[in-house]
Amino acid sequence: MIADDTTKLQAIRSRIAKAAEIADRRVTDVTLIAVSKTHPVEAIEPLLVEGQRVFGENRVQEASEKWPALREEYPDVELHLIGQLQSNKAAEAVALFDCIHAVDRPSLVTALGKAMAASDRRPDCFLQVNIGDEPQKGGCAIADLPALVEQARAAGLPIAGLMCLPPADVEPAPYFALLAKLARDHGLTGLSMGMSDDFETAVTIGATHVRIGSALFGARGVAA
Ligand SMILES: *Cc1c(COP(=O)(O)O)cnc(C)c1O
Repeated sequence: MIADDTTKLQAIRSRIAKAAEIADRRVTDVTLIAVSKTHPVEAIEPLLVEGQRVFGENRVQEASEKWPALREEYPDVELHLIGQLQSNKAAEAVALFDCIHAVDRPSLVTALGKAMAASDRRPDCFLQVNIGDEPQKGGCAIADLPALVEQARAAGLPIAGLMCLPPADVEPAPYFALLAKLARDHGLTGLSMGMSDDFETAVTIGATHVRIGSALFGARGVAA
């Protein structure tokens, strides 16, 4: 029997490449964010050794415990905050992360603007949209997006684009398409959308950043 020595990372990368090709997009226009939340440093290191450099965490506290040491060894790591951010942690997030994906309300825009003005760091920001209008989800309401974009621009935030988490257990494509349309309407190019179960669909619809956890690292514990 021939051993299958393709790593999970290689398999995901080739699936992204195939989806990009189907949509006549360049694979270099899609950034794979390896979502390492809940996973220990020992699980992250093999991916670093394989060459993966872009990682996502959903908590400031957990990231600040895991990443400073890893970054000494791999200074070119790019760290993305993909989870909700409390305004009182904005300064810490600006210091630690290169990109912040869940900017979803005026108070957070204000806090991030102040934190950036007070430091020499200006991480890229994605504005999160509650694309399925779900009460329990983060993200600004679609109706509130124009005001949030305007406020974020006025506050000097570097806006990379829009981010969403579509409703679970339904076909995500219409939601991805809606996010892409909203981004176009606002002249924004980045689209942070697509996770382990739907990233190929997201790539065919224009995702520039896919956030992939369990397909790379295996299932998370219940706390995730
Ligand atoms: C955990 C998480 C992901 C990754 O989810 P998987 O299904 O494990 O790929 C992506 N985006 C956000 C915002 C997350 O919290």
